[in-house]
Amino acid sequence: MSKLRQEMPEQPARERIHNFNEVALGYSERQAQLEASRCLQCPKPECLKGCPVEIDIPGFIKLIKEGDFAGAISLIKEKNNLPAVCGRVCPQETQCEELCVLSKKDGPVAIGRLERFVADWEMSHKQQVIPSPCSSASGGRSPKATRRDEIKVRGEFNNKQQPRVAVIGSGPAGLTCAADLGRMGYPVVVFESLSQPGGVLRYGIPEFRLPKKVLDREIEAVKNLGVDVRVNMVIGLTKSMEELFQEGFQAIFVGTGAGLPHFMGIPGENLNGVYSANEFLTRINLMKAYLFPEYDTPIKVKERVAVVGGGNVAMDSARCALRLGAKEVTVVYRRSEKEMPARREEVKHAREEGIKFKLLTVPIRILGEDGWVREIECIRMGLGEPDESGRQRPIPIKGSEFRMEMDTAVIAIGQGANPLLLRRTPGLRLNKRGYIEADEDGAASLKGVFAGGDIVTGAATVISAMGAGKRAARAIDKMITNT
Ligand SMILES: Cc1cc2nc3c(=O)[nH]c(=O)nc-3n(C[C@H](O)[C@H](O)[C@H](O)COP(=O)(O)OP(=O)(O)OC[C@H]3O[C@@H](n4cnc5c(N)ncnc54)[C@H](O)[C@@H]3O)c2cc1C
Ligand code: SF4
Repeated sequence: MSKLRQEMPEQPARERIHNFNEVALGYSERQAQLEASRCLQCPKPECLKGCPVEIDIPGFIKLIKEGDFAGAISLIKEKNNLPAVCGRVCPQETQCEELCVLSKKDGPVAIGRLERFVADWEMSHKQQVIPSPCSSASGGRSPKATRRDEIKVRGEFNNKQQPRVAVIGSGPAGLTCAADLGRMGYPVVVFESLSQPGGVLRYGIPEFRLPKKVLDREIEAVKNLGVDVRVNMVIGLTKSMEELFQEGFQAIFVGTGAGLPHFMGIPGENLNGVYSANEFLTRINLMKAYLFPEYDTPIKVKERVAVVGGGNVAMDSARCALRLGAKEVTVVYRRSEKEMPARREEVKHAREEGIKFKLLTVPIRILGEDGWVREIECIRMGLGEPDESGRQRPIPIKGSEFRMEMDTAVIAIGQGANPLLLRRTPGLRLNKRGYIEADEDGAASLKGVFAGGDIVTGAATVISAMGAGKRAARAIDKMITNT
């Protein structure tokens, strides 16, 4: 048994800044078993309270310790259809691991890294472990009760078909809802507006944090549950929600995310060389600029890049800019490092790679030359009383303006709800911030419509979106079977 948490092997910083290969390399079998042996198998495990998708954490860790890796991944997959994704990008440090009893002693059990280990083990052993049918998504009901042929159809249904469910958006919320319903036996169609499924997992999070082949494999597993994924389908444009109901879908889950970029509204934001992080990352990831010269997607990153913001999106943009050849990349953030919403690990990796941080600083103007960015004028900030987010409010310090020479700026200060579908769906109630109003189970104001993930909460996390997809799947099943 090992007392200390096992470190994750990584690609050295000086090498990785020249490539888009994965940074964290994953545990070996021995490391995974040593780490698993740290778990105390608590009779009342606190870690469980921090997992929105209800994975049996001590259970799968015990199986790893015993060397039963197939058993461990099977147990995880009863609850989580995207374990290799979650093992890589979920903020475990503020969820399950934060609650682990060991967190205040020798460091929490590395639950996320162990989850990733067994998901990768399954992939490298070229087998796909299928979890026992309907064990989780049915909310504890017996598998028998949720078999496709036993689903009770409520009322008259088109051509006496099985009740079909439509899912709009193929991010973690949509994929989870679809997978859970698919496992219960429902025919599910996922409609995705982009050319490939995955949502932010595909177009936002870069290859060096989440390789596309890992995501592809997990989406394939969702499809293998009978889920039909249709891309290039913009609901609200290609067809409306009303038309989906007319086509015979009995319920619709909306998981369209928060993909509308916010800008700062300062002079100069329309200059060449200014990108929203959304466009910047989409060009790199979805449109494969990271595979230059194989793909020639245009993306102009010059020598000095400023990235405005302090979240994961800012860290991803900054680290991508460096890999695309920028000589100097500076993150400009209005509060101090303590308040940065990015995962600690991402900030650490960014610092190791030589990204600079200009903290307590806000851009107030972008200056150009011949239509291109040349300088950014900023003002320094002090910190005042906490605001509604609980973090200290940044306050401009009069007379502290200064300029930085820059030729590219990436704005990563947050996203809002994409209004297209919402505007074209009369009767769908939104909250004050423009997100869909939904109850705990995801039920929205229109009959048969459920919603979850970033389109309800605003920009949040992969695992919270998955938790919402799971709860909605249960509620949809309950509505259709009238139980
Ligand atoms: C760059 C970046 C890095 C991040 N890093 C992390 C991280 O490390 N850890 C973490 O936990 N979270 C991270 N997040 C946040 C996390 O990715 C999101 O909270 C999560 O993806 C939300 O999931 P979702 O399913 O609600 O929406 P999304 O992932 O946004 O998926 C929504 C999908 O719906 C599609 N869609 C939209 N409108 C329509 C329509 N009308 N018709 C059909 N399809 C439509 C979109 O194209 C998209 O594919 C990051 C976010 C970004 C942007
Ligand atoms: S709280 Fe920590 S030690 Fe206890 S069961 Fe969970 S992972 Fe193991």
